[in-house]
Amino acid sequence: MASILPLTPANITEAAKALKAGELVAFPTETVYGLGADATNDRAVAAIYAAKGRPQFNPLIVHVPDTEAARHLVDLQPVTERLAGRFWPGALSLVAPRRTGSGLSLLVSAGLDTVAIRVPAPEGARSLLRAAGIPVAAPSANVSGRISPTTAQHVAIELGDHVAIILDGGPCAIGLESTVVDSTSVPPTLLRGGGVTTEEIELFLGLSLMIAGNDDDAPKSPGMLTSHYAPDRLLRMNVVKASPGEALLGFGPAPDATINLSVTGNLNEAAANLFASLRLLDALPWTGIAVMPIPETGLGRAINDRLRRAAAPRG
Ligand code: AMP
Ligand code: MG
Repeated sequence: MASILPLTPANITEAAKALKAGELVAFPTETVYGLGADATNDRAVAAIYAAKGRPQFNPLIVHVPDTEAARHLVDLQPVTERLAGRFWPGALSLVAPRRTGSGLSLLVSAGLDTVAIRVPAPEGARSLLRAAGIPVAAPSANVSGRISPTTAQHVAIELGDHVAIILDGGPCAIGLESTVVDSTSVPPTLLRGGGVTTEEIELFLGLSLMIAGNDDDAPKSPGMLTSHYAPDRLLRMNVVKASPGEALLGFGPAPDATINLSVTGNLNEAAANLFASLRLLDALPWTGIAVMPIPETGLGRAINDRLRRAAAPRG
């Protein structure tokens, strides 16, 4: 069973050692908790897929402490450099061509010649990456297809037997996965909505992103699988009044809500509460989970994307 350790300098040093030794370490970022492994070590990366039960065609995001470290691994073309300059450290993963001699395990990109890379924001995550001195592949630390973890306890419940150390930095500030943008296309393609809004990126670049289609046989991103982020209970969206026996997940003023994502209708607050609320409701004997309407703007788009996948028929 993994030790849950508070995010102190001594524990970060210990976790960095474990990563260098090829072990799995879960750590907090501003998006969700990541399941980290040495991205240059085939066996360590294979252990991520095994622990998550993740299909091997779903590539992983590589985490580095700064843009300079990213430049050693991938070709940052001008538009990628601009996006990195504006949004790193932060909740944006950029897909860029892998450099020859990057040393990255081929398993990381699941046969593609590109790599998704990100510099996470929290100082604790970046200290860990600096101390490890290796690129760290880190998908969300949950069983594949299930709800992403936003606390150390979520990770312990699902993956405690598979990881050496879980660093506990408290609840994640954003609570939704990173936005994934493929910057090798012109214009760049949005592969997955997430913590950085599409609007912010489009405003910054002064253009509209292409939007990747859904294709379960050849997903460009695992986040694009139709059924994903799924609780056990059936989930319905855009519901104003729950049916008898159903829990109501509220947004905005809602006296009848079982749990409210944000009483004031704040999308940042709703994103931060989303996954923990779904887990809470899923642990109780409701017949289903009804979710109130959430506006399709800003972070609301990524929230609705996750809810649509949670509501999708299970494969
Ligand atoms: P997760 O690690 O669970 O947050 O999911 C990683 C996300 O990054 C998925 O949506 C992946 O498909 C996407 N991703 C990682 N590498 C690539 C790549 N080389 N090309 C396209 N998408 C990628
Ligand atoms: Mg995930």
